[in-house]
Amino acid sequence: MADSNGVPFDYGDGCVEPGEKAHFRYEVGETYLGDSVAVPVTVINGEQKGPRLFLTAAVHGDELNGVKVIQKVATQYDPAELRGTLVCVHVVNVPGYKAQTRYVPIYDLDLNRSFPGLANGNTASRMAKQIYDRFIEPCDLGIDFHTSTRNRTTMYHVRADLKDPTVDRLAEAFGANVVLYGEGATGSIRTTATNDGVPTITVEMGRAQQFQPHLIERAVRGVANVLSEFDLLPEREPTHPSWYVTGDSETAKRWLRADVGGLVEMQWGPYPLVHEGDPICTITDHFELEQRTVPAPFTGLLVGFRENPVALPGHPLCHIVEIDRETHDVITREIESGEFDGYRVHDQDFRRDT
Ligand SMILES: [Zn+2]
Repeated sequence: MADSNGVPFDYGDGCVEPGEKAHFRYEVGETYLGDSVAVPVTVINGEQKGPRLFLTAAVHGDELNGVKVIQKVATQYDPAELRGTLVCVHVVNVPGYKAQTRYVPIYDLDLNRSFPGLANGNTASRMAKQIYDRFIEPCDLGIDFHTSTRNRTTMYHVRADLKDPTVDRLAEAFGANVVLYGEGATGSIRTTATNDGVPTITVEMGRAQQFQPHLIERAVRGVANVLSEFDLLPEREPTHPSWYVTGDSETAKRWLRADVGGLVEMQWGPYPLVHEGDPICTITDHFELEQRTVPAPFTGLLVGFRENPVALPGHPLCHIVEIDRETHDVITREIESGEFDGYRVHDQDFRRDT
């Protein structure tokens, strides 16, 4: 082993030296009772210097798949094998996580619209400021893990502002089959960090309030791919997906919404590949006197869909991304060979674990 040329990671209350791995809790606020609100953090600081990558999960407190991804990543790597630093914030929204709510409880504040935060702002904004200054802004790259909101699910995909070349490289390295282009929302971790010179992607995976093992394994491999692409793990060869879809303009992806209220029944499946004109779902009134069929506007993949079976006009039904002929053919072959089974979502046997 060459002599260490790593750089200490200073987080205010302490410092993780090169060659060290530290698990700790970092205080970001207080409860009514005066107890500390502290985020669990792992810093793995490589003996050799290199980029700093942050991982964050549960900024929406009930989105749990990423929490498990970070637990695995934090256990898996040692400082001796890393060039650079892995900064893992296991749970960003601690009050929401404790209450199993998306937002910061009581005030219903979206922590993921509160970055970079304010020292003298509201509760969410103060927590955001502590986390941002200590663990996000000092990094060079980032990955923020999410799931769908409750009563919906989402295909495993990445969201990224692909006009930034490093974000583009990061999104591709992570190796998800589907990457959706978007600048993201003001105040989100991804948008704030990216605009601040810390290229960041969001990973959307499955359902809230669950651990979904095959998605978690895939994301752990995605993190390994990013580590090798950016030379934090120089020994490892990255893997690449067999097909790749980028929703890179507004016309190529669309949320289909209900025009009428009623009872929704999904008609597609079991694979989320639909052809132009295929019925995606029907909406009926309670007397079944009227039935409205919602067709696929183009050939594409359903990357998100409604699980709650009743809808009002304007409610989202599904999120569809257009695919080209070549991608369509690769996916069709994978369906025939069984390789696409991990994406079988609208099917009772697979519902629990997709
Ligand atoms: Zn989320």
